[in-house]
Amino acid sequence: MTAAQPELTRPESIRPEPMRDGSFPMQAWGLPDEGELDRVVVVSPHLDDAVLGCARFMAVHPGVTVVTVFAGNPESYPEPMRTWDVQSGFGPGDDVMEARRREDRRALALLDATPMHLEFVEYSYNPDDRPVAPEAVAEGLITALSVLEPTLVLAPFGLANPDHDVTHRACMLARERLGTTVSWWCYEDNGYKHIPGMLAWRVSSLFRRKLWPTPVCPRVDSDEARKQAAIACYPSQLLALEADWAISAKLAAPAPEQFWRLAPPPAGWERLAEESSTRP
Ligand SMILES: [Zn+2]
Repeated sequence: MTAAQPELTRPESIRPEPMRDGSFPMQAWGLPDEGELDRVVVVSPHLDDAVLGCARFMAVHPGVTVVTVFAGNPESYPEPMRTWDVQSGFGPGDDVMEARRREDRRALALLDATPMHLEFVEYSYNPDDRPVAPEAVAEGLITALSVLEPTLVLAPFGLANPDHDVTHRACMLARERLGTTVSWWCYEDNGYKHIPGMLAWRVSSLFRRKLWPTPVCPRVDSDEARKQAAIACYPSQLLALEADWAISAKLAAPAPEQFWRLAPPPAGWERLAEESSTRP
């Protein structure tokens, strides 16, 4: 306690009678449900996004599986090299993706998390920068999730970058197929969430599709040390992330991690979505 705080004038002996029982809905909103965190899967578009967006969560929830969608090698690396790979410090002849998979395994080991690398190829390795179809990624995800049997899946909002967008859409397709026994939350795509309007756009489009994104507060590591140590395991990506996003200033702040539950509106609340579209 500091000297600046005002003195309490109410005697500590006064305790009001409880007026709410455990069924009062505001008590549960914003908190994980019982058993929801038993088996958690984080879906990561690239080899680093889960750690950038969820490391403080993973640091206090050991046993998470991180399924990284775009972890596969292209048939051949393009010549000239991709700008991103040049920014990441790679040279001609390097097996970029193998180096990045190694970085990911080291980072996740620090967080007591398990990597699962899918073999989809990043859009910027494909002819004409063509992204993989969300339906194809959804099939791969459903196969992975059927084995892992998660109670909760953390999906990226999928902002701006085509691989992130495809991953988000694939997650939503998987969500429809896997039914209501699995909970789905979204995490915020580090870097891309700072593009003006991007996060608001995705939240509003989910809201209009009756998947109301609502902030939820799981326990997270209050110390940044393990997150920073895990992020330091991606030295190649940090070079490019610094060049494009000034990532070190945001991580040093430190940037918060926020998770959003996706769920249909409470019964009787559906009209809020319709009314909000007609108001200024
Ligand atoms: Zn990414």
